[in-house]
Amino acid sequence: MSDDDRRLVAGRYRLAERLGAGAMGEVWKGEDERLNRTVALKQLHLRTALDAAGAGDLRARAMREGRIAARLMHPNAIAIFDVVEEEGYPWLVMEYLPSTSLADLLAARGSLPPAEVAEIGRQVAEALAAAHRSGIIHRDVKPANVLLADNGVAKISDFGISRAAGDVTLTATGLVAGTPAYFAPEVARGSDADERSDVFSLGSTLYHAVEGNPPFGRHDNAIALLHRVSQGEIDPPRHAGPLTPVLLRLLDPDPDARPGMTEAGQALAAVATASPATPATAPEPGRRRLAVVGLAALIVVAVLGAGLWLLLGGGDDQQAGGDTPQPGPSAPASSAPRGPTTSAEATTTPASPPPSTSSPTPTPTPQGNPDEQRMAAVRDYYALLPGNLEAAYARLSDRFKSTRSPSFADYASFWNQMSSVQATNLSPAGGNAVTATITYTYADGGTTTERHTYTLVDQNGQWAIDSQAS
Ligand code: ATP
Repeated sequence: MSDDDRRLVAGRYRLAERLGAGAMGEVWKGEDERLNRTVALKQLHLRTALDAAGAGDLRARAMREGRIAARLMHPNAIAIFDVVEEEGYPWLVMEYLPSTSLADLLAARGSLPPAEVAEIGRQVAEALAAAHRSGIIHRDVKPANVLLADNGVAKISDFGISRAAGDVTLTATGLVAGTPAYFAPEVARGSDADERSDVFSLGSTLYHAVEGNPPFGRHDNAIALLHRVSQGEIDPPRHAGPLTPVLLRLLDPDPDARPGMTEAGQALAAVATASPATPATAPEPGRRRLAVVGLAALIVVAVLGAGLWLLLGGGDDQQAGGDTPQPGPSAPASSAPRGPTTSAEATTTPASPPPSTSSPTPTPTPQGNPDEQRMAAVRDYYALLPGNLEAAYARLSDRFKSTRSPSFADYASFWNQMSSVQATNLSPAGGNAVTATITYTYADGGTTTERHTYTLVDQNGQWAIDSQAS
């Protein structure tokens, strides 16, 4: 085919080959004949145009969104060079990146090791943070929009395109285009996307990359999936290793509890640099590593399960309390992340508690309804750990201490092995109970995640943790 036979868009961009198509439009490789450079062109489908006037509005919006996205220049974002109209369709002219999308890579490889995922996430988060600083929300962060070059560079594409191609907010149209698998819960419930929902969607994307499935699973039925997403309860990650605490923060169902994108990038960088990754598109070695990581995760899960069963007496904290006093909520599973060579120090017989811990630290009465207050009490308890042991210990009820953790020394020796702990995905569990996902990071970098139900009791005017069951 001669150059003349190939379609010229806007009198300037010569289409060469079709790279693919997604829910939003068709992507072509082409040549900018004015600047003599290769570009990618995306012809946007206009999804929700019902009539000619509506189509006109959508075209105008597409052009506007394209221009907004074009303001962003970042090494980890696909640059938008131009927005043009051709035969009634908006076209975006973009930087061409020879690449594989993360979605295609995952389809081929299933999942990736945590360090590779952290490095991809770091790069994408840096671009998104720059976008947020410029007031640009992505709205559709997902594996298909992360492009991976052979040299290890990751770039996020399609800024604002979901809005340009047609309003996908549920309140506006009552329908969802594409998959809601990476939506933030509040977006699934009908709120407009914002910086915080981009953070969640990045978490969902990275979760899928490391776990092999999106955090709310796969559903053919978009409405059923939407329902699950709107509830915000993810399956705890099992293969994420050192990435687990970061993922759980990004995926917190409470938008205000999520880190900002800059902080997310820093946390991902810390995981990536702790164990350097090979480029995500490198072919075979990843597969073997992945199998090893998967096996290690299985062992951890198995040990964790066995440890919990023994130490909690089959999940009943009352039984466990009598014979095996614990240093604090969730402590029984402390043996898990250290693997098969673990000692049983978390279960040693306690000494007497130091006097300094006997008076509770006053807690400001949390605002909100009692469920909110109880969830805040659990969240606050873990926020004190491992740095502020005395204040945390004071938030355990007397009954809890006497049955499970009477010795502050023992409590402290447990928590001194930790570098951080996080409580996420909190939800009311009926009565005075709260369920939460707890992620421990050990000083040696190991992590483990557990789901527990806590019962709280009003003690001296503040909610104290009275019991814990797995
Ligand atoms: P959706 O439209 O739902 O986001 P998608 O992301 O799978 O779906 P497109 O964005 O339409 O699909 O991309 C289609 C193909 O074009 C993908 O294989 C993608 O890797 C490739 N592609 C997209 N943008 C570029 C680009 N700037 N440079 C090179 N290839 C690209």
